[in-house]
Amino acid sequence: MDDKCVCLNIGGTVFMCFRKTLKTFPESKLAQVEQLAHCYNHERREYFFDRNPHLFQFILDACRRGVIHLPKDICGIVFREEMEYWGLAERQVAPCCWEALYRGESELKTMQMLVHSLRKGKKTRSGVIDKSDIKYRVWQFLDEQKSGNIKTGRVVLQIWCVFISMVILGSTLMQALATLPAFQVTPSLAEQATLRKYSEWYNTTFGRTKPHPYIIFGDLCCHSILTMETLVAFVVCPNKQAFLTSSVRIIVFAGYISYWIDLIMEMNLEKMTTVHALRAYIVFKYLNVLMLGRLFYITRHLPAFKIMGLTFRSSKQELKILGFMLGILVCVFGFAMFISELLHQTNINNVFVGMYWALVTLTTVGYGRYVPYSVLGHIIAAACALCGVLVLALPIGVIASTFYTFYNYHKYAAKHLQLTN
Ligand SMILES: [Zn+2]
Repeated sequence: MDDKCVCLNIGGTVFMCFRKTLKTFPESKLAQVEQLAHCYNHERREYFFDRNPHLFQFILDACRRGVIHLPKDICGIVFREEMEYWGLAERQVAPCCWEALYRGESELKTMQMLVHSLRKGKKTRSGVIDKSDIKYRVWQFLDEQKSGNIKTGRVVLQIWCVFISMVILGSTLMQALATLPAFQVTPSLAEQATLRKYSEWYNTTFGRTKPHPYIIFGDLCCHSILTMETLVAFVVCPNKQAFLTSSVRIIVFAGYISYWIDLIMEMNLEKMTTVHALRAYIVFKYLNVLMLGRLFYITRHLPAFKIMGLTFRSSKQELKILGFMLGILVCVFGFAMFISELLHQTNINNVFVGMYWALVTLTTVGYGRYVPYSVLGHIIAAACALCGVLVLALPIGVIASTFYTFYNYHKYAAKHLQLTN
């Protein structure tokens, strides 16, 4: 009995098993244990290894079963190291434990991505900066929204953040109110005359009314503050290049410029006599839309929005699947709907309309402007609606779970970075 058995002392815990058990994986260290003379203690007649006995239970169990199962409460990375030490290959791991084996690695990658994105926000700092410099302090205050460690500074910063957010929201509200009839006035006769010259525009609602002067004045005040803030931020920015390559800042800045040009043009509408001037005026009106970029500006320090961006970047595969599936289904149902409605009086009179109908139905929007009339059309519509629910739910579920994972990790990463900084 005794020569059939072998004693293994793993970090103080003695394991005993049949010699033949250790031979299960011929390429492993355990199979060749008899050759490891330096580990053999003749007095105690056992082999000694300075390893974790808790993990060794699972290694020994793998020799008994012929397949490796992992402890679920141990990090996969640690167990892989243990497997490497004992010379066990990853291919021996049972499929039920693949997740436990590789999860640690993917979690580590997620965490590194998060930490990287958290640190990236600080790229506008250039190499050597005199931190006591007043310009740098103002920049930190305006852009990174940091106030040092003084308590009053933090209070002032909070008030400033709320104030600038209110100004941005106020300005957006003004522009929305300006589209309501209650806040509009009729333009002067001279202005009407200018617009009437170009009757193709005058026949639309454009130019029939203009915002009330109070609204214009309120918006002007908001924009003066916001433009000043941007200019001051540009002047004090320690790294002008990073400032000029930040897409959000460029968009917002272009929006402000177009606002001021648009305002000046609107004030002098009666003086604009050429069609080019009027065209330019309309182009700047369109460009005003760029200012909506500043709404994202409010959210730039909210972690949830950063995480959302990170989620989309790391869910490229799922988004691709979603796009492909939607594309294929739109084509299939679009063609099918067009053909099924061929002999009926319907407004689905070409394949593109059919595809548009399919897209609106698949995404469960369903405006109801294009509807089938034939029996076959109704059956196709029902199938299309069901497919839409199923096809959208699958990748969106995966993306949502990625977001949830990132959100949770962000909490720990932020805490950890706070400790290490
Ligand atoms: Zn398992």
